[in-house]
Amino acid sequence: MRIQTWNLVYLIGLIVYIAIRGVFGGRTKHNEKVISRIDTSDRALVGVVFVGNVVLPALYLFTSWLKFADYRLPAFVPWCGAAIMVIALWMFWRAHVDLGLNWSITLEMRKDHELIVHGVYRKVRHPMYAAIFLFAIAQGFLLQNWLAGWGGFVTFAILYLVRTPREEKMMCEFFGQSYRDYMQRTGRLVPRLKLRSKN
Ligand code: SAH
Repeated sequence: MRIQTWNLVYLIGLIVYIAIRGVFGGRTKHNEKVISRIDTSDRALVGVVFVGNVVLPALYLFTSWLKFADYRLPAFVPWCGAAIMVIALWMFWRAHVDLGLNWSITLEMRKDHELIVHGVYRKVRHPMYAAIFLFAIAQGFLLQNWLAGWGGFVTFAILYLVRTPREEKMMCEFFGQSYRDYMQRTGRLVPRLKLRSKN
């Protein structure tokens, strides 16, 4: 294994990420679903992201197969990566806490699904995806290899681009005007710069 501080920081971050998913996955697994838009393409995309976040970093850390794609970053960059990782994990955890039982790893609505518009959902509609993007940037700043470092970002960007419009369509169908109003006052990944005046 390539035992270097920054590789270990990534590994610890990944373990925390998986642990958060595990805890909340356990809490929501008995939810009764009223809508499920899980299909082969969504499943495939989740698999592709797993390759980017876990398989490529594991190959980089535990084998020499990806050595051809190594590069060196200036010394301050991994420090920034570690700081971004902490913010990403905090936001990822907060998004799970705020969604509570309404969370699902894929496109689903549960019985008694509540629209969450507080906490990290107050100004952005996709704080969990924002957290995963931050995690992927941290991955690129910590693992000094083109494939293991940026595989997470590229694969998650594909999932985000495909899934977000579908998710918002499903939310609009389920919550109607409340979700459309929520869309008006929030940004997707970052807060809107100008809030529209209601007068
Ligand atoms: N896109 C959100 C949530 C990801 S989890 C984010 O990035 O933070 C995906 C599931 O969460 C969706 O299938 C939907 O069931 C649920 N969901 C998304 N936004 C929600 C909201 N504001 N309130 C309640 N449930 C929401």
